[in-house]
Amino acid sequence: MQHTPTTILSAFPKVSLLEGATPIQRLYGLERALDCTGRQIEVYIKHDDAARLGQGGNKLRKLEYLLGDALAQGADVIITTGGIQSNHARLTAAACARLGLRCELVLASAVDNSEYDYHHNGNLVLNDLFGAHLHHANSQMPADKVIEQLQQRLQAEGHHPYFIPTGGSVALGCLGYVEAALEIAAQEQEMGVTFDAIHVANGSSGTHAGLLAGFELLGRPRHVQAHSVLHTLQATTETTQTLRQQTLHLLGQAATTPVMAIHINPAQMGSAYGMVTAEMKRCLRLLAQTEGLLIDPVYSGKAFAGMVHDIETGVLAPNSRVLFVMTGGTPALYAYHNLL
Ligand SMILES: *Cc1c(COP(=O)(O)O)cnc(C)c1O
Repeated sequence: MQHTPTTILSAFPKVSLLEGATPIQRLYGLERALDCTGRQIEVYIKHDDAARLGQGGNKLRKLEYLLGDALAQGADVIITTGGIQSNHARLTAAACARLGLRCELVLASAVDNSEYDYHHNGNLVLNDLFGAHLHHANSQMPADKVIEQLQQRLQAEGHHPYFIPTGGSVALGCLGYVEAALEIAAQEQEMGVTFDAIHVANGSSGTHAGLLAGFELLGRPRHVQAHSVLHTLQATTETTQTLRQQTLHLLGQAATTPVMAIHINPAQMGSAYGMVTAEMKRCLRLLAQTEGLLIDPVYSGKAFAGMVHDIETGVLAPNSRVLFVMTGGTPALYAYHNLL
């Protein structure tokens, strides 16, 4: 058998949670608002926010491989963890509902936000509707302790729990974004467009690392411009490099260069993870009011602000085509509405 990127990926067990390739859309209204026409800048988005399952989002791509592995190992309960408004937790709950798996969510307060809706609305409403069991971690009872006790209790009851770390950002989860890179390359061919830069949010780094590994697997490293929203620039860079190498290793590939130049811009994070910024609010409304499209306030809203900044200030050269990966997370709008 030939070892093409697709056959290499197909060796890994996978469940199907998406409905085929996510569409790419050109943003004519945004281009007009940002005065792109004279400079021949074209702006596109890839709708990784669009899926019927669980209101969609980037975590579904990772969960296709993680839950594929869980089922292959005979798991009957999935345990995962995240912040109070974790999109990953909500999508894990939705995917478990579809697959008939029990879902245990261990949520910790990651953001200094005492708004009522932050603690009751948004993703929390959906976790409950999907039938997930919720466990709250805190400083006395940190998440790893809660998880350990849960695992022991479930095993004692004869269950086979499978643990997925925060954001699904382990090499196996990154395979979902290796696949997304192959999908983007195929869509470029179909559309007759080559993207000069691909912008994306970087939280737990799996999305960025998976895209980098995917383009390397294709033998065509690309400018993936990430915007960090969770950790410091140094920590984010290290995690992204490590995950990229681990993902290539999992695919049986040597990294083309041990440490490749990776592009992470920390400028949009603001005071901390999950804290709103003026630029995020402006750009979230800009997209909503030029295109009728919604982005989330924690990840894509900040990353999108970073791309808009690059367009407005001329960092993005004239005659460029740029792709923004929409990663979902819009249920958080209802948790943050008082702050937007
Ligand atoms: C988790 C998440 C991200 C970040 O993805 P990572 O792989 O954790 O870097 C971006 N956008 C949304 C909406 C998310 O939920």
